[in-house]
Amino acid sequence: MDYKRSSALFAQAEKVIPGGVNSPVRAFKGVGGTPIFVKEAKGAYLYDADGNRLIDYINSWGPMVLGHAHKPVVDAIIEKAKKGTSFGMPTEIETQIAELAVSMVPNIDKIRFVNSGTEACMSAVRLARGFTKKDKIIKFAGCYHGHSDSFLIQAGSGASTFGTPNSPGVTQGTAKDTLLATYNDIENVSQLMEANKNEIACVIIEPVAGNMGCVPPSENFLKELSALCTQHGILLIFDEVMTGFRLAKGGAQELYNIKADIVCFGKVIGGGLPVGAFAARNEIMNHLAPLGPVYQAGTLSGNPLAMAAGLAMLTELNTDADVFKRLAEKTAYLHKGISKVLTENNVVHTINRVGSMISVHFDETPVVNFETAAKGNNTIFKAFFHGLLNQGVYIAPSAFETWFITDALTYEDLDFTIAAVAKVAKTL
Ligand SMILES: *Cc1c(COP(=O)(O)O)cnc(C)c1O
Repeated sequence: MDYKRSSALFAQAEKVIPGGVNSPVRAFKGVGGTPIFVKEAKGAYLYDADGNRLIDYINSWGPMVLGHAHKPVVDAIIEKAKKGTSFGMPTEIETQIAELAVSMVPNIDKIRFVNSGTEACMSAVRLARGFTKKDKIIKFAGCYHGHSDSFLIQAGSGASTFGTPNSPGVTQGTAKDTLLATYNDIENVSQLMEANKNEIACVIIEPVAGNMGCVPPSENFLKELSALCTQHGILLIFDEVMTGFRLAKGGAQELYNIKADIVCFGKVIGGGLPVGAFAARNEIMNHLAPLGPVYQAGTLSGNPLAMAAGLAMLTELNTDADVFKRLAEKTAYLHKGISKVLTENNVVHTINRVGSMISVHFDETPVVNFETAAKGNNTIFKAFFHGLLNQGVYIAPSAFETWFITDALTYEDLDFTIAAVAKVAKTL
């Protein structure tokens, strides 16, 4: 395939945008080469600036769970746009989407809308700190909760239990309040809680990790985590920015039958427009301004276009009784097909999958946390990525990202993809 026009557009972008992109992973640093510039998209397909058609396994990193330019969502945006695009005053549609979200998600009474997953997680942590009057938080290595300072933390050196900044610009002062835990290691979490008694406000976790590839919670991990939080008076925050409205109507809380204290949303909830949200029971949400003392605000929060897109998306997901089952079945089919052809070609691999989230790791070690996720062979991944791209199949340009399956994919698309994997496998 020819990517001349994309390459030219990238060179032009690099002059005025740092690295040519507005979010780093788009720059293809993880796989080499120059990024593809999208011209338009419809259903399961992307059409790039050179006129290539690509089967899309990223789907805007999750939001397009029903496919690109999905008619009910597009229609809702167009209708709203004609009536004014921002007021900074309350609108009825905010209540409508809030009512629907509260009805779909277990264990939440109120929801506050923001503009991104980052904002949702950042605000959820502030709320947890304000509610518990404690400062420290626990996060898991390899989990991503957006780019706010408290989350850009890596494990500290030696025996220190607190983290250190993993980006310049994050202060040591911020880092000392974030404790790093190992995903799927309940003993480790328990030790951190014991060592920081009465100091921890919350634990934030991706209930199914999706930012180190897809890493499912091991059996009972979330249940035990929830029990530990209750025992220590710590709030449990489920970051369902990826899993919310994707794994089930009620997200991972429903799938695993676990109640979190605060739940964060993003991606699907905005139907492809910039939306995030955080939600909890009344007791917690009533601490938020203007009802309570914890401050949080946004000029464009609850924006009518964004709410219209989100409401149309959630309405579809709420009324289509089979959508989550269909998504899981398509993903399972892909899983089986890819695994078969990789095995036939003696390519060592591990595939992780939960519902419509899936990732392929080139290592035989089970991938259960950040350390094991990092073991994958990146040279093979790069060849795999470019081999698929050349056949018109677009997967995430990084070994640490999950693929997001859309309902717009047909079984023909899946078979085409499996055949493409078979071709690449012979060269790996
Ligand atoms: C994408 C993501 C975020 C950040 O959301 P943005 O909208 O990119 O700010 C937070 N948490 C998780 C789990 C995510 O996948």
